[in-house]
Amino acid sequence: YQAKQARMGIAIYDPSQDMNSLERLETIQELRRAIQEGRFLIQYQPILDIQSRTVSKWEALVRWEHPTRGLLHPGEFVPLAEEAGLVGELDLAVLKQAVQHQKHLGGELAINFSAFTLAHPHWVREVVRALVEENLQPGFLWLEITESALLPERQKWLGGLVALRGLGIQVALDDFGMGYSSLAHLKQVPVDLIKIDRSFVEGIGRDPISEEILRAVLQLARAFGLRTLAEGVENEGQLDWLTRHGCHYAQGYHIGPPMSLQEATGMRRLA
Ligand code: C2E
Ligand code: MG
Ligand code: MG
Ligand code: MG
Repeated sequence: YQAKQARMGIAIYDPSQDMNSLERLETIQELRRAIQEGRFLIQYQPILDIQSRTVSKWEALVRWEHPTRGLLHPGEFVPLAEEAGLVGELDLAVLKQAVQHQKHLGGELAINFSAFTLAHPHWVREVVRALVEENLQPGFLWLEITESALLPERQKWLGGLVALRGLGIQVALDDFGMGYSSLAHLKQVPVDLIKIDRSFVEGIGRDPISEEILRAVLQLARAFGLRTLAEGVENEGQLDWLTRHGCHYAQGYHIGPPMSLQEATGMRRLA
């Protein structure tokens, strides 16, 4: 009986799990402090206008300069920020800083918004405030929203999104094709642009099914009057295929990796 209890005890009390939750708690505290103190940096990834072959836009990608763990990528802390209810503050801080940087970058600015950020009580006001404070025309701002963000509680934020779009802000559907019922979203949410997930772009020249999906998405976008961006373009062959098939924009290591503001302004001068 005691042996059985011990086994049960082990099952219930797992010290490694306990460590994890302590670490999690600690990381959440650090995250909260980092947001308050602005210890994030933003890298900018160039977006190529395929027709004119110029860099016309930049996507802001957040990184966290962690005191001991080095430079962390969003995959390592955004989910935690979402769970801890901190991502709204984070996204709005990124937006504010990127809008300040825009005058050095030139061109349009793409900002990633979590679903939870759309639920932030003042998000619409904060977006407008950031633009007004830096005197940036709304047309220079895109908000990138992933499909998964579009599922829950749409009625709570749709009005705000429509209002911002009315001011000229553009809406991009990020990672398009990864979620289910992608097509239905196009009908329900006002969108200007779709970012086709890099998993499809990867298949160009290698996987006929990916190419077929890409063709269909580009055609569909045309029918809806939407512009298209291909993510994860890593070679000239992919860019060439996308050019021939009428895709509007390309983003990926072949165009340029995410880079510091300084590097980005340098690249802009070269272009
Ligand atoms: P995303 O918006 O789809 O961003 C593109 C990701 O793909 C970036 O990863 C970028 O570094 C990477 N990437 C770009 N070009 C290539 C390529 O040619 N090949 C490959 N293999 N990868 C490429 P990153 O920076 O780690 O960002 C990951 C995700 O985190 C982003 O995916 C975005 O959804 C999210 N994210 C980034 N910044 C923010 C933010 O400020 N707020 C929120 N809520 N999410 C953010
Ligand atoms: Mg994005
Ligand atoms: Mg994306
Ligand atoms: Mg993606």
